[in-house]
Amino acid sequence: MRVRFAPSPTGPLHPGGVRTALFNYLLVRKAGGQMVLRIEDTDQTRFVPGAEEFIIESLSWCGIEFDEGVHKGGAFGPYRQSERKAMYRQYALQLVESGHAYYAFDTEEELDTMREQFKASGVASPQYNAISRVRMKNSLSLPSDEVARRLEAGEAYVIRFKMPRGREVRVQDRIRGLVVVQTAQLDDKVLFKSDGMPTYHLANVVDDRLMEITHVIRGEEWLPSTPLHVLLYEAFGWQDTMPEFSHLPLLLKPDGDGKLSKRDGDRLGLPFYATEWTNPETGDKTPGYREAGYFPEAYVNFLALLGWNPGDNREMFTMDELIQAFSLDRVNKHGARYDFTKLQWFNQQYLRHRSVDSLVEPCRKILMDKGWEAEDAVLKALIPLVMDRMVLVSDFAKEVESFFEDPTTYDESVVAKKWGGAFPTVLHELIGCYESSEEVWGAAVAEALFKEVAARHHVTPGSLLQGLRLAVTGQASGPALFEWMGLRGRSACVARLRRAAAALPAN
Ligand code: GLU
Repeated sequence: MRVRFAPSPTGPLHPGGVRTALFNYLLVRKAGGQMVLRIEDTDQTRFVPGAEEFIIESLSWCGIEFDEGVHKGGAFGPYRQSERKAMYRQYALQLVESGHAYYAFDTEEELDTMREQFKASGVASPQYNAISRVRMKNSLSLPSDEVARRLEAGEAYVIRFKMPRGREVRVQDRIRGLVVVQTAQLDDKVLFKSDGMPTYHLANVVDDRLMEITHVIRGEEWLPSTPLHVLLYEAFGWQDTMPEFSHLPLLLKPDGDGKLSKRDGDRLGLPFYATEWTNPETGDKTPGYREAGYFPEAYVNFLALLGWNPGDNREMFTMDELIQAFSLDRVNKHGARYDFTKLQWFNQQYLRHRSVDSLVEPCRKILMDKGWEAEDAVLKALIPLVMDRMVLVSDFAKEVESFFEDPTTYDESVVAKKWGGAFPTVLHELIGCYESSEEVWGAAVAEALFKEVAARHHVTPGSLLQGLRLAVTGQASGPALFEWMGLRGRSACVARLRRAAAALPAN
């Protein structure tokens, strides 16, 4: 098995592209074949500087590695189509000679005129095809001596595919099944342009053949081009090596209504690209999932389940497990909703499975950035305490802010509900108990003394707990409170309780 990922460097790679690369990768790794990265840069008008590097970096962050390609070399190179330019012409000419393609000399204006005339006579989408080509300037309609004269004079031409008439093209797609298209619906696509470059169709088919690609797995947007590709394989006489085609379902907006776009991420304030994209014109940087602190494993796990399922209810997969479990048989036909919250859920799951030790350094860095400090032992105890409340490692900062910063205000609605009744008396008494207790401070002592004081006043500890939390943390919710207090230390807790006591509403 040989597969390829063949992006055009027209901008930052979208999640759909990453998923296409991933599905190719999963399949080929299981089969023990090779994966090629081919850069399809034949449309020079759409070339964006930096896009190729971005594609390589994004995929490498995801752990999608190639065996051959622009950045790896290999026996089938060069892997950038612009560097293969010289070899495409002979293939276009081969088709002209065999009668499957022809020269067309029409200018832009002539093409426009043709379209307008057809529109005026009621043809909704006029095409250059078997019907219109006879009225245009090409080597099928012009006398052969004139064609020769024009070619000799170096007149600009394109080479078009001569779409056969009245044929039915059958595409056997691995995911969609049999797709049947009538050639009457297809036009005479340009294969070779006047700038000496092939178009996508010619270069793609020629390169898949020369690079001995056995399986083409690509986005659904390429399905309409596939009948032409099948006809090209036929015209070249290459049916024997025609790859198996699989067209992956579209990625849809989170609500399922239409195609996913970057704006869907923007609207939610969430990243869209795998890694940071720098706009080559403005220099503006758009952070990716990597910069936002997502784990590549979580992103890959999330992407793998967009349009594919393992056939059971497993959701968590390492890359190796995906390679084992993946098969094209379980790829859906219908589009897959790109649910950003599901990606967050995956990241959370991966975070929870991380060992505390592996998080110590990144968390310490977060503290340092904030100007906070904690001993190793405290950090190691604090991380598991707040970990369940984090989606990203960077969430550590907001989860522990109240640990390092004394509260300055107390939410009035919580104060109104929780700091009345017996609370002020309990609070004062608790301060005394905490101070005078001779036991070694810790979560157990903090909790036991609190329960004792509550019992003395015949109130349930539960009804006082949120008030206590507000007093020590300044927040209405948070991690296990007594653990937190144990770590925070006796004197800091007492100081905070005094501060809260001073802020009690006067009655
Ligand atoms: N260059 C095409 C793209 O940008 C490749 C499509 C294909 O895989 O054939 O997606």
